[in-house]
This record gives sequence, C-alpha cells and structure tokens, in this order.
Amino acid sequence: MPLYEYFCQRCEAKFELLRPMSRSEEPVTCPSGHEGAERVLSTFSSFSKGADGLSTPVGGSPCTSCASGTCSTCNLA
Ligand SMILES: [Zn+2]
Repeated sequence: MPLYEYFCQRCEAKFELLRPMSRSEEPVTCPSGHEGAERVLSTFSSFSKGADGLSTPVGGSPCTSCASGTCSTCNLA
C-alpha cells in the first residue's frame, strides 16, 4: 500500500498513513482523534520542468529541435 501524507486542520498535525490507492482521497482521522484530516499532495518531482527542456519530455518527441515530433529531423519510424 502506498504511503500518503495527511494534514489535520484542527490540531495542525501532519501525519502519514498507509492506505489503498482507491481510498487515498478520503478524509481520515488524525492521531489525536479529529475527523476530516485531508490528504496533502506531495511535491511532484515526476513532471517535466516546462518548455525549457531541462527534463526529458514524457511521451513527447525525442527530437530536441521541434516540439511536435513530426519534423524532418526527428527520424521517427
Ligand atoms: Zn487533529
């Protein structure tokens, strides 16, 4: 089971919980017994940094000189 991070607004506690992925968005009870603690979205590191191309485009063109994957230098099969 994945580990998710939750935040309780009542006592401002941050805690982690192992939950099934299908229930990750549901509110949980914090260690102090408050209901309604909500999931905290961790910082995404898997996303590309943008158009500057410092990261490898996911599902994009391997060609560095175009963005569409259809230019004459892409050399795609
Ligand atoms: Zn709490």
